[in-house]
Amino acid sequence: MLRIRARSVHPVTAPPIEDGAVLVDDAGKIAALGSNRAVPAPRGAEQLEFPDGALVPGLVNCHTHLELTHLAGRNAEPSFPQWIRRIRELKDATPAEEFYRAAEQGVRACWAAGVTCVADTGSSGAPLEALARLGGRGIYYQEVFGPDPAKCTASIAELERALSRLSPLASSQRRLGVSPHAPYTVSEPLYRAVAAFARRERLPIAVHLAESREDRGIAVVPRGGSSVRHVVELGVVGRGTLCIHCVQVDEQDIAVLGDSGAAVAHCPRSNRAHGHGTAPLAALRRAGVPVGLGTDSVVSVGDMNLRAEAVAAGLDGEDALRMLTLEGARALGLDDQIGSLEVGKEADLAVFASTALYRPLPPSTALLTVVAGRVAQR
Ligand SMILES: [Zn+2]
Repeated sequence: MLRIRARSVHPVTAPPIEDGAVLVDDAGKIAALGSNRAVPAPRGAEQLEFPDGALVPGLVNCHTHLELTHLAGRNAEPSFPQWIRRIRELKDATPAEEFYRAAEQGVRACWAAGVTCVADTGSSGAPLEALARLGGRGIYYQEVFGPDPAKCTASIAELERALSRLSPLASSQRRLGVSPHAPYTVSEPLYRAVAAFARRERLPIAVHLAESREDRGIAVVPRGGSSVRHVVELGVVGRGTLCIHCVQVDEQDIAVLGDSGAAVAHCPRSNRAHGHGTAPLAALRRAGVPVGLGTDSVVSVGDMNLRAEAVAAGLDGEDALRMLTLEGARALGLDDQIGSLEVGKEADLAVFASTALYRPLPPSTALLTVVAGRVAQR
């Protein structure tokens, strides 16, 4: 068992507790929380104390590309289409072991930032392998590409091969999903086929959507049309689909997203870095769309500082904390397990210096990160 006492405990679903504590059982779940005096201290429990710490639910990063961690600072292309092309060249030049090392480094960087759950998209499978080996939590969405409609069957066959290799690593702590990459890399038949496949296999879907102006008028999106409405019509975006970015959306798109039951991964720093603009966060939330925050890859934003995303999104205080934790979990459909400190939930926790809790810029490093009741980083 593990007992953590801190100057303040922030359950998110209840008001903060001064001089609080959390008790974690051997199954990695929260057994008790409250004021320090009220929480039992069983003999034999490991006791950690943070007299100047704020204990919060582990942060949820709703969009990462952990296999690209080694490419930080290596793509300075200012134009987005060129940037994408350059990423492809850099990935083609990356050996499999390098993807694995990058993913492992990425998982550790997440933990250092107090992030205990990631929604990661990639093509190498390395992020799921790294999460499994290190004991992390997340959803890994295997990417599928294929702009040529004639190669749809081959793309699906390749996806199935990748999933059958990766599925032994999946568990309730590490889920496997699929990601038809983006409107400019996936043909219309492939979108339909992946959607049907995901429904049949009960796999969650993530898509890059309405990220840049170039989304319109390329590949599958009818020229001048709405990429959001198009992927909803194709059956790709529905209940539980994680839509990444959603910057170039109009009022009708927002209403359609709200009705579809899809969620959004909001990546304000990445959108800004690529000059895509600003996603309409307030309007999406008003429409009832679950929205979580994501860093995107370190190639876009330079680091894994998720709290900087809350500031870039214009959030602060308990609202920022809620977006970083419970709302992120809700966007991933995991809010019954993580995202708040409640008895019976998974013990995914982070402790930050009290003075730094709502200051996202350095020092942003967590003093302690716990995943499923196990100390991941100290
Ligand atoms: Zn991305």
